[in-house]
Amino acid sequence: MPRGKCRVCGREAEYWVPWANAWFCRDHYIEYYNRRIKRVWDKYFPNDPGDTLIAVSGGKDSVALLYSVSKILMEKGVRHNVLFIDLGIPGYSDESLKIVKWNAGRLGLNVEVARLEDYGFTLRDIHRLVKTRRIRRPVCSICGMIKRYLMNRYAYEHGYSLVLTGHNLDDMIGFTLASLVSGRIEDLVKLRPYVEGHDRLVARGKPLLFTYGVENKWYVEAIGARIVEAVCPYRTGESSVNTELRDAVLSVDKKHPGLAILMARNTVDKLIPRIRLPGKTLVRCSVCGYPSSSDPCGFCRLREKVSRLLSSKKK
Ligand SMILES: [Zn+2]
Ligand SMILES: [Zn+2]
Repeated sequence: MPRGKCRVCGREAEYWVPWANAWFCRDHYIEYYNRRIKRVWDKYFPNDPGDTLIAVSGGKDSVALLYSVSKILMEKGVRHNVLFIDLGIPGYSDESLKIVKWNAGRLGLNVEVARLEDYGFTLRDIHRLVKTRRIRRPVCSICGMIKRYLMNRYAYEHGYSLVLTGHNLDDMIGFTLASLVSGRIEDLVKLRPYVEGHDRLVARGKPLLFTYGVENKWYVEAIGARIVEAVCPYRTGESSVNTELRDAVLSVDKKHPGLAILMARNTVDKLIPRIRLPGKTLVRCSVCGYPSSSDPCGFCRLREKVSRLLSSKKK
């Protein structure tokens, strides 16, 4: 396609945005993107969400989240900081933290670090135990559970009332289809841009839920941000039902631009509000005291198992 002119200013454009059916120059792409995130914020988030943590891993999505949301929070005068979760992945965690600090520094924000090591183990231990089949569950799924736990616990202990993550539209489509396939409709309810907190569960937000991964990539490039180039050494790269379903929808989206956005919007605005869950009661984990669907909670069970396996190895 020959390069067009920016829809806003008519200068030579750099970004073709199929779902907007428009070309944008760099400045106006940035403006377009920021406006898109602001619209999601205004529609789904409380005007004053209280002290907010932006969870940033250093990947394109969370870095895009950091810049776009910090701008909104700054304008609203909402106190916010950056949270980095250090899982103790050799060669990867340190590198990622450096990039996160660089970006946060540009915005004048502090980076707070929640360390898995403070709980007596690292993801390196988990990886070893999975490799030797003493833990039978994929590393990435354990890692996801650990991150959710640490994020919430850190935020709660440090008095924050909202944690934001960079889940994007591509993730949203994968999760939605997977929960329809598995019939775990209760999982859909979590796919709202803003989920209220209660008890010791801090409110969670995903402002990029209607934003394609590629939009985030263009945005970080346009604003001159830095992202982690390295790939997590523990990532298996195996395709899951999630990723295959996601890719199928995204390939239809290529022919019908915006289809994925429509699907996500209808899921959030029309489908989820109609889901009535039987009052699922959370219990308090008797080990750590945080709300969970089981007692002990998944994190405490994992922690106990890892410490048992690691100490039996040393003997
Ligand atoms: Zn322009
Ligand atoms: Zn627990």
